[in-house]
Amino acid sequence: MKEQKIVYVDNAATTAMSDAAIAAMQPYFKQIYGNPSSLHTVGQVAKEALDSARAQIAQLIGAKPNEIYFTSGGSEADNQAIRSAAISGALKGKKHIISTAFEHHAVLHTLKKLEKEGFEVTYLDVHSNGLITAEEVQAAIRPDTALVTIMFANNEVGTIQPIREIGAVCKANKVVFHTDAVQAIGHLPINVVDDNIDMLSASAHKFHGPKGVGFLYCRTGVRLFNLIEGGAQERNRRGGTENIAGVWGMAAALKEAVEHLPENMAKETALRDRLIAGLSKIEHSKVNGDLVNRLPGNVNMCFEGIEGESLLLLLDQKGICASSGSACTSGSLDPSHVLLALGLPHEVAHGSLRLSLSEWNTEEEIDYIIAEVPKVVEYLRSISPVWEALSKGETPHLI
Ligand SMILES: *Cc1c(COP(=O)(O)O)cnc(C)c1O
Repeated sequence: MKEQKIVYVDNAATTAMSDAAIAAMQPYFKQIYGNPSSLHTVGQVAKEALDSARAQIAQLIGAKPNEIYFTSGGSEADNQAIRSAAISGALKGKKHIISTAFEHHAVLHTLKKLEKEGFEVTYLDVHSNGLITAEEVQAAIRPDTALVTIMFANNEVGTIQPIREIGAVCKANKVVFHTDAVQAIGHLPINVVDDNIDMLSASAHKFHGPKGVGFLYCRTGVRLFNLIEGGAQERNRRGGTENIAGVWGMAAALKEAVEHLPENMAKETALRDRLIAGLSKIEHSKVNGDLVNRLPGNVNMCFEGIEGESLLLLLDQKGICASSGSACTSGSLDPSHVLLALGLPHEVAHGSLRLSLSEWNTEEEIDYIIAEVPKVVEYLRSISPVWEALSKGETPHLI
């Protein structure tokens, strides 16, 4: 059998680890294995290692070391940030939260639970280009608003929100501002002070670090409550023996990403635009999300008359690993909540393809995708009753 080459373009779901991140983890399995809570030398050496990883991460985002709390990943950081702001707000009689309809499920499902617990959530309408404005946030703020939580960059359509302006509005109104920056950190320049961010969620495996580790930045003066009770780790805010190897893998991956940010962004942007130009030649196709305020590695397109799932399966047979909507919803036949929030009709939202690049992708890979996707789309349309009705003019084209 001919060996199938793999073209991995699902980096928004997860990334492969970098050699620097793997190397940074090695010492913490057998050499520096102590428990940072132990008073003896072996423990204290581990504690110093943990502290220096924390300092490195803090410095890379413009924070102070004691503002970084390690978590098991982006989902936990989102849960802890939102729950904490909700508890703080409720203590002051403030039970209103502002967000958007196209957040990650770690945010949306936490908000849904809070609604059941008596909080009121305003979900701002996302424009058809996948953006919201700071003015819209300002208009939604009320005297009882406890929290604004809006993602930095969307995981499906890649749109980048005007975070600095939204943060400034929250600051002026003395409302806590949390941003899920899981897709942005390591891919876009971020400085929590300049960007007016109170709380920020990050996850290592989205920037070539290990899975199962992330962090929450929480500005000094913003109260944090525990999700996980236990020991006094993380300044009493998260019980459990620290994952030092993971934390060091994350710190090394973030350092590498931040140091190479300009060239990685330029490379991915060029690959992205080549891919968009190539695939846009397919008739009745559409790029979802703003083309300018967009993650360098994100391509998201709809092809009328076909199912995203069938497209993915056939592309997989050609070695192209992509995604339709987010990994968390694929497997279900529900259309993407993100594309629906952008106002796409159900039948169009079913046919989406997300190709998320990393700086390791090559021009040859992009050209392979540009050659293969049209063939698969043509084949699927040839057997699609929906496409038949569209091409006979029995139903109108929507794109
Ligand atoms: C991946 C992702 C998460 C979840 O992060 P985990 O570390 O996998 O829990 C949260 N938000 C966004 C935007 C993501 O892309």
